[in-house]
Amino acid sequence: MTRSHDHDFDAIVIGAGVIGSAVALELARRGWHTLTVDKLPTVGYGSTSASSAIIRFNYSTAAGVAMAYEGLQYWLSWPEHIGDIGGQPPAEFVSQPMLLPKTPGGHHEKVLPLFDELGVRYEDLNADQTAARFPLVDLRIFGPPARLDDADHPFWGEPDATHDGVIVMPEAGYISDPQLAAQNLATAAAAAGAEFRFRTEVASIDRSSGRVAGITTADGERITSLVVVNVAGPHARLVNEMAGVLGSMSRTSRALRREVYIVPAPPESDFDEAGFIMGDGDTGVYFRGERGNNILIGNAEPECDELEWVDDPDSIDDFLSDDGFELHALRTARRVKGTPIPLQKSGLVSMYDATPDWTPIYDRSDLDGFYIACGTSGNQFKNAPVAGAAMAELITAVEAGHDHDADPLTISGTHTGLTIDMGTFTRNRVVPDDTHMNVFG
Ligand SMILES: Cc1cc2nc3c(=O)[nH]c(=O)nc-3n(C[C@H](O)[C@H](O)[C@H](O)COP(=O)(O)OP(=O)(O)OC[C@H]3O[C@@H](n4cnc5c(N)ncnc54)[C@H](O)[C@@H]3O)c2cc1C
Repeated sequence: MTRSHDHDFDAIVIGAGVIGSAVALELARRGWHTLTVDKLPTVGYGSTSASSAIIRFNYSTAAGVAMAYEGLQYWLSWPEHIGDIGGQPPAEFVSQPMLLPKTPGGHHEKVLPLFDELGVRYEDLNADQTAARFPLVDLRIFGPPARLDDADHPFWGEPDATHDGVIVMPEAGYISDPQLAAQNLATAAAAAGAEFRFRTEVASIDRSSGRVAGITTADGERITSLVVVNVAGPHARLVNEMAGVLGSMSRTSRALRREVYIVPAPPESDFDEAGFIMGDGDTGVYFRGERGNNILIGNAEPECDELEWVDDPDSIDDFLSDDGFELHALRTARRVKGTPIPLQKSGLVSMYDATPDWTPIYDRSDLDGFYIACGTSGNQFKNAPVAGAAMAELITAVEAGHDHDADPLTISGTHTGLTIDMGTFTRNRVVPDDTHMNVFG
């Protein structure tokens, strides 16, 4: 890509979260002159900073699994990927096995054939092996999950049935500081020539001759570019609306308020050393170890929990709800023996940008030159470096004349060689009926 003389920039990236920064890095490394604008004061300050940042591979689509497995390789070679960033510490990958209880009808049934097909490593443990390797795990079948005011629900009783084990992803883990990961990417992007402007809010997407022409900021400044990429996280719907493309998308995303909680790990346990991650539809939670011998817990969207969709992402209630902390601690205590239930609430409030099928939209739009990397549905932190590369490939191909709508691009993973069918992530995709509808994607 050579620098455009008709525009201020080749590409404007809206949003400096982990995915926006990865897009900027990959475009800059391909020779694009990019400007990233973010209305917040610094990199990764939006939903990225609240991310649980779990790295796992169970997704319902082959492209989702391939992308996550490819993503792992980036995190494992992170210092090499980001290169020389002038002494800034690289984000740390904390290795922790991820467990899926073998709940009848659970997510493992969908993903194991994909793991076999794509060569993702896993172990299939029976109940005895699970008890020996993970003695804190209570393998009884409690679900479907219930709420606190449903005290007589069997979920809170003493079930007889037991899972016959767990599936283990031994290569899973989490990134201990998700904001630092975004900063690493942005610093690497700047080293490759990308420019960044903070406290700069995009107020409109400009058009000329039927294609995108740039942005106008809330201060009234017009900045021109060949390409604009919407990576605005939970604000992405508003940006798509500004671009006038919302009505032409059959898949759209919306902001969804989410809470994440921290409880101490069971006394006598060493969750820092022997902790694990679990995605548990049977108790309606996901959790992972958190530094300081703690457990971090999020919601896995069981049917009994109402989803809090947000129309205005700038005015969410950012106090923890009255009963969410206790509910999630008690649900986790069903699965992890001895989990304490503190009186003092601890956690944070943030938002996903979620689609109805919990799959992101990485695509062009009906407005030529306007691209979308949104709808990341609480599960795309791990994929950020791959999403950046995939978006850069997609933008480059489409700007060179490729018809991605008629002939969806496929990407080959740099590390794994796995094929990633970008048709899975289009705005007009057809969703299979059996797609698992929750944060596990
Ligand atoms: C609570 C929580 C837990 C999660 N857990 C996991 C997990 O365990 N594993 C996983 O893989 N993923 C997880 N995710 C998902 C993952 O963190 C997100 O998909 C990812 O961080 C999104 O990055 P982003 O760059 O797209 O968006 P963001 O980080 O939200 O960045 C968007 C940026 O756009 C800016 N912006 C918006 N509108 C404008 C505008 N008009 N003008 C200028 N700037 C604008 C915002 O200020 C913001 O900085 C989780 C997310 C949340 C919220």
